[in-house]
Amino acid sequence: MSASVLIIYTGGTIGMKEDPMDGTLKPFDFSQIKAEVPELNKFAVRIDSYTFDPLIDSSDVEPSLWISLAEIIRDRYEEYDGFVILHGTDTMAYSASTLSFMLEGLTKPVIFTGSQLPIGVPRTDGKENLISAVEIAAAKDEKGHARVPEVAICFDSQLLRGNRCVKYSAEAFNAFASPNCPPLAEAGINIRYNTDLIRKPVYWDAQLRVQTRLDTRVSILKVHPGMTPQVMRSVVCDPLTRACILETYGSGNALSREWFLDILREATAKGKILLNVTQCKSGTVNMDLYATGASLKHAGVLSGVDITTEAALGKLFCLMGRNDNNDWVKTMLEKDLCGEISK
Ligand code: ASP
Repeated sequence: MSASVLIIYTGGTIGMKEDPMDGTLKPFDFSQIKAEVPELNKFAVRIDSYTFDPLIDSSDVEPSLWISLAEIIRDRYEEYDGFVILHGTDTMAYSASTLSFMLEGLTKPVIFTGSQLPIGVPRTDGKENLISAVEIAAAKDEKGHARVPEVAICFDSQLLRGNRCVKYSAEAFNAFASPNCPPLAEAGINIRYNTDLIRKPVYWDAQLRVQTRLDTRVSILKVHPGMTPQVMRSVVCDPLTRACILETYGSGNALSREWFLDILREATAKGKILLNVTQCKSGTVNMDLYATGASLKHAGVLSGVDITTEAALGKLFCLMGRNDNNDWVKTMLEKDLCGEISK
């Protein structure tokens, strides 16, 4: 029996064409993508598609889109061997990260892809990205299990774990980087899978559990020289935020000034969740290394280890949506739930 893949088209450059009126890129109908990539018809894979209406530039992605994506995958889970999500690159790392936490007990591939150049343009990267994504979504091992039962991003011949990615270039074809986790697969003449790294479900016959309650009361503070107590307090202590991601320097360091630590202590005393994520693209938070990091720990800040901001946001949305108890959320934040942090 041949494999089957559902392509879910949300929008983004991959399916855009130039509006002759004003020269800007606007989304077009998915049927035109199939016409542009006739190679898709040559696969020994049944390919169906689902098109969002309206199609969106991924800068407009909201949590409601993630909920719709998770529900489509849940509703069509038994029908397909894998799923390919066509998505704009701008927020793809956020969407792939959050979906990885929303889809628990995943036994099938959910592969995000897109492109830097529209698919109708001669030098497009969209065709190769799409073809590789479909092949990976359909791939099975000798036992008939999915080769990649994970949420991943397939881009420029690399398959990267979704919750480890950051958009790294607005221009190069290798738009994504995964600095703290090697590729899950690389596409050359053959697709080479890094089988030791790819996560496997505990049970292959596990039921997919879809978490669609997201609590978005999260703020992000990028620590920077010249930051004032007023600005910091408005981001960290706002009564409407339940958690704040602190983007700190290097291995998790920040100001040692008393006002800075006082605001952190004030937020902790109010029960807020504070998560330390490094501004560096590569490497990890280690709050035991420098006194400036240690004082954050004493003020109640948790270590995000080597999590990306994108993954930290999705993890918080999902955990907070699951439970009103902040102590439980804090305990879960320190665990590696689906490959988002190094142990
Ligand atoms: N602005 C576009 C989007 O993210 C860029 C892209 O698709 O790469 O939807």
